[in-house]
This record gives sequence, structure tokens and C-alpha cells, in this order.
Amino acid sequence: MIRRVAIRLVIAALFTFLLTLVANPPVHALQGQSWDFPADDEAAPSWAQDVKDQAADMALFAAFATLALVSFFRKSERLKYVTLAVSVVYLGFTRSQLITIVNVFALTRWNLPPFRHNLAWYLFAVFTLVTTVLWGRLYCGRICAFGAMTQLMDRIVPAKLRFELPSRIEQRAAYIKYGLLGATVLYFLATSDISIYRYVEPFWMFTRVGTTGMWIGLATLLVATVFVRNLYCRFLCPVGAFLGLLSNLTVFRIKRWSECNTCKICEKKCEWGAIRGPKIVASECVRCDDCERLYMDRQKCPHWLILARRSKVAVAAERR
Ligand code: SF4
Ligand code: SF4
Repeated sequence: MIRRVAIRLVIAALFTFLLTLVANPPVHALQGQSWDFPADDEAAPSWAQDVKDQAADMALFAAFATLALVSFFRKSERLKYVTLAVSVVYLGFTRSQLITIVNVFALTRWNLPPFRHNLAWYLFAVFTLVTTVLWGRLYCGRICAFGAMTQLMDRIVPAKLRFELPSRIEQRAAYIKYGLLGATVLYFLATSDISIYRYVEPFWMFTRVGTTGMWIGLATLLVATVFVRNLYCRFLCPVGAFLGLLSNLTVFRIKRWSECNTCKICEKKCEWGAIRGPKIVASECVRCDDCERLYMDRQKCPHWLILARRSKVAVAAERR
């Protein structure tokens, strides 16, 4: 198992490296654009001082990551919603810390922020990468503040307002985000202009800085999300597409019973359109736990019901 994990981590690293190969030679800054990272020449007195200065940020993120992992491993719905709420308040409105298409652009030019001054950011980025390779899009399922916000919206919006897309349309629409990822990366490689991020992702909303047009676009998106759940994450997000590509390497996949070949309960339950017949599409699955809770539910899952029935029949036959 350790070998499999190591191989997949290496493949993930190669995947990242390949992204850099399709780009220009490494540069250390993009012309005319701000990356929001402090430059190397803003030298701190010592490593110890730098670590000390960033210790609180790192500790807070470590605490949040622990909460996210505990909710994931315990398959606790309540803890998952606590994690989502903390994500919106802490990572969203307090820190404005999200993985964005700008980070993907940075990878293509190997223009990463100086390690020493951005320890908390690296902790966040490595956590995202490693959890994606190990379990899939855990980041989308409970870390990303925008995804968390739309999932919380989904909890309070009355179900009767929902419009369920026919599965053929849903499956095709899921490819739009890959098109957007490819188009924005190509645009960036051709122009070095990072400002395109404003038009393909709404994460700027957490900094409360946007033009009137951007706010109108965001309001339209959120209204549409009331009717089509997780609209942006399922169909439009280039970061979700990037993590979706990576999650094809996922080591620990969701288990299924042989009964899943015919049973449709989990497929109907999945709000992300990630279950197609017996198959779970790793790139669409955000590890929300819904199907895994059903998998373990002895009152609802046909696997357990069939086993219980068989054992009753066997006991009855023995008594006869
Ligand atoms: S799909 Fe995009 S917006 Fe949605 S949770 Fe993932 S990264 Fe966030
Ligand atoms: S229900 Fe299952 S397959 Fe669907 S997103 Fe959640 S964990 Fe993934």
C-alpha cells in the first residue's frame, strides 16, 4: 500500500512538472501583475523569527485541517457542516485563502511564492495536493470556502426550488470546467495576464473587492445556484477541474458492494452527479460522505438488507 501511495505521489509531482514544461522557461515574476506574495528581498532577520511570525497562521490552519480530517474519517454529517461553516468564516472572509486558478498559472511558470515567507500557504497547498492524491477532491468537499458556502446554501434552500438536470445534460455540462481550465491556462501562457481569474472564478468575493459588473455576475451565479445545486463547482470551476484531473490518481477510493451494480440509491443520493451506475467518477466526486454513509447503513443499503434476510432464512431453515 505504501508503495502505491508513493507511486501516485510521484505521478502527481510529474503531473505538476509537466505543467511547467508546456510553459515558458521559469521566471520569477509576472510582468505588470501582482501575485500577492511578499518578495524574497523583504528579508526577515532569521528563520526562527519567520517561523515565529507565521506560527499562529500555521497553527490555525493545522487546527482547521484536523477538523476537516476528523469529520471525513468519522463520516460525521454534523462535523462536516461545522467544517464548512468554519471554512466560510475563517478561510473565506477572515483569511481569503483559497486555491485559485492564479496558483495554477504560477505552477506553469514555476513562479511559486518564497517558501520562507509563506509557510502557512505551503501548508495549505501541500495539504490540498496530498489529500487529493490520497482521497480525491476533499478540498472541494469541505475546504474551499466558496464550495462550502454553496453547500451551506443548499441546506437552507427549500428542495422544491431545485431543478434536477437530466443526467445526460449533467454529464456533458461537467466538461465545461475542463474547457475553461484549458482556455484560461492557454490565455495566460499567451499573454501572461492573470486578471482573467476575475472572470472565471468568484473567489474575489471574499476580499469584497469587485466591479459592479463582477458583483452582478456573482449575484446571477448565486441565484442560479438556488435552482441548480453546486452549479459553479460541478460545471464551471477551473480549479475543481484541475483537482479533478489530479484525483484520477486517487489511492483510497470509495468502496462498493457487488449490489451497487444494480442498486440506484447512492446514484440518486449523490448531489454531485459522480455516480454513474456501478461506477464512481473520481474526477467529479468531492468525498462528501453521502454514499459512504449509505454504504455502511444496515437499515437502508440493500447489501445489508439482503444479508439480514439471508441469515433470517437460514435460521428459519435450521429450526424446521
Ligand atoms: S469546484 Fe471550485 S469552487 Fe467548488 S469547491 Fe472546488 S475549488 Fe471550490
Ligand atoms: S455521494 Fe459519494 S460519489 Fe457522490 S460526491 Fe459524495 S462521496 Fe462522491
